[in-house]
Amino acid sequence: MRTFFDKLVCDSAANFYKMMEDRLLKKEKMFIVTANPETFMKGTQDEDFCRLLEDKRTTIVPDGIGIVKVCDMIGYPVKERIPGVEIAEKLLQNADDHHSKLALFGAKSEVLNRLKGKINDHYPNIDLVLAVDGYIKEKDQVMQEIAMLHPDIVLVALGIPAQEQLIYRHLNEFDHGILVGVGGSFDVMSGCKKRAPKIFIKCNLEWLYRIAKEPSRLGRFYKNNVKFIRMASKLKRRS
Ligand code: UDP
Repeated sequence: MRTFFDKLVCDSAANFYKMMEDRLLKKEKMFIVTANPETFMKGTQDEDFCRLLEDKRTTIVPDGIGIVKVCDMIGYPVKERIPGVEIAEKLLQNADDHHSKLALFGAKSEVLNRLKGKINDHYPNIDLVLAVDGYIKEKDQVMQEIAMLHPDIVLVALGIPAQEQLIYRHLNEFDHGILVGVGGSFDVMSGCKKRAPKIFIKCNLEWLYRIAKEPSRLGRFYKNNVKFIRMASKLKRRS
């Protein structure tokens, strides 16, 4: 697990967004994993997922507050959360500013349709090359199709770990582009689900709001967080 912590982006969210935009403009390739305790636990349990996280082409950002707090505890200089939903929102703005090619993959079809409508209304300069809902069986085929369209930005919203595994399997097919697994972000960006009120975000309690809204998340959350804290608290940053 130490190797995952060693790779975490320690910069401020604002600086990270600037760097991401810069790489977008330079037409570089960037695969972003937005990590929470579940992501790191998966990396300890699954060799392939561990390889994905450790790959030098993978950029890992601290999405969950659990990651940030544990970093604080064990001496990693991570500054703050860089949430997946904010990355997705920034990328839509960047895509509009720079007339970029965008591909969306994931979420329910009604969610995706609402998001497409929103993009149409608020980001008129985006070139939306493809949008496919996440309940199609042939997901690998969709990724191949997306790669052939040479998009500048690819947002995949299928949940952890499916979205990361899918992007990783096809990473070599992309000549450039910012590729990110964004979890439930389409639900929020489309307006189908509300993000936590600002006060929850400010107090680092967004996770509590999500569990209160969707109690079925509690088991998964508890299992991953307890194990994660137990395992990670044994690590100390190497100087
Ligand atoms: N999803 C999907 N296809 C699937 C399973 C899930 O498109 O086969 C979507 C789901 O509709 C939701 C997102 O993936 O929009 C997962 O959201 P969740 O909040 O559970 O993700 P997390 O950030 O917790 O991994």
